[in-house]
Amino acid sequence: MRTVTRRPSAWAAGLLAVLTQSCFASAGQPPPVADHDAACPANSGPGALRQTADSTSAECRPGDLLPPLTPDPAAAPLTSLLGPRAATLETEHFAVLYTAPPAQARDLAQRLETVYHAHVKLVAELRLPVRRPPHKLAVLFFESHAAFAEHLATLTDEPSPALGFYDAVSRRSVFFDFDSYPPLQAIQAAVEQAPAAHRERLRQKLRRRRAALELSVMQHEAAHHIQSAIGLIPTFEDVPIWLAEGLATLYEVPLTPAGQPRESVNGYRLFEYRQLHADHAPSREQLVRLMSDDAAWCGGQCYPLAWALTQYLRDAHGLGLAALLRRAATGAGLPSDPGARRALFDKLLGPIDERWVTQFHDATMKLPLEGTAFAE
Ligand SMILES: [Zn+2]
Repeated sequence: MRTVTRRPSAWAAGLLAVLTQSCFASAGQPPPVADHDAACPANSGPGALRQTADSTSAECRPGDLLPPLTPDPAAAPLTSLLGPRAATLETEHFAVLYTAPPAQARDLAQRLETVYHAHVKLVAELRLPVRRPPHKLAVLFFESHAAFAEHLATLTDEPSPALGFYDAVSRRSVFFDFDSYPPLQAIQAAVEQAPAAHRERLRQKLRRRRAALELSVMQHEAAHHIQSAIGLIPTFEDVPIWLAEGLATLYEVPLTPAGQPRESVNGYRLFEYRQLHADHAPSREQLVRLMSDDAAWCGGQCYPLAWALTQYLRDAHGLGLAALLRRAATGAGLPSDPGARRALFDKLLGPIDERWVTQFHDATMKLPLEGTAFAE
């Protein structure tokens, strides 16, 4: 049986406990290798391959990611995973195999496209090398939580509370119709049984919880999928956990169809960060250890810090962030040795001293908390 190792991401106790997300990284398997040879569709015109001074990888311009991708001829056997009632919905960049209601599948597909377009903007902004995925990105969308959990159990050795995941081994994202999620069904039942005066409040609660799941699970996992598919993070082993997770959390915000954020920052990650660090900044030791040593990754409580770090780098150290991501995207990777990582971060981002940490914390605390939907 294949081994899939869960990247722990249980939520901090007391913080949005209804939301459980998880991320997967392959282990015990050869990591998926970015196929840079399959980069751009043509060697001339807008899609022309080009080389960079620090890379031998073929790379595309961000616009090369936009033309529709071709269906994956190997995807047909996937129907056996969802049963004979499964149908396929194709968008320009995704192929969603689903048993969920068609309207939900359309909503999911549109959501995935917004995250894809948001990534095109990111690679343009940071001038990152990318590759054009060889095929549409495959997504499984189950009609029920039970069917999803049954599928998940075939991939994991231990029970997992995941509510969606990107499987780097099969290169598929897997989700289910949140209307079938028992905690949301319980709220729906409460709506129906509540006195009329209380129903609207409960309906709002249901909408908020569902929206939070769509952002923190669907868009988060879609971000991992896209970052892998376009070669931004060819393998999870190439980057520190905080950076891979932080980069995914940037996309846990409502997006326009063109991939433009509707809110300037991730509201509930900022809310979590403020809860955890209301009275004190993270210590320099804590921050440096998290950044340089994957063994320091602490699951749920590390997500807001990973988000805050990545958001800060994007805002204040864009060149350094681009340099880090470029190393991953061009196959050079980041050093795994904590000391070597620390030296690299000092060189590209720092030095990461007490002053750096204070500036990071102060900048994060000053961000506007717009995501009131998460502050319950
Ligand atoms: Zn993740």
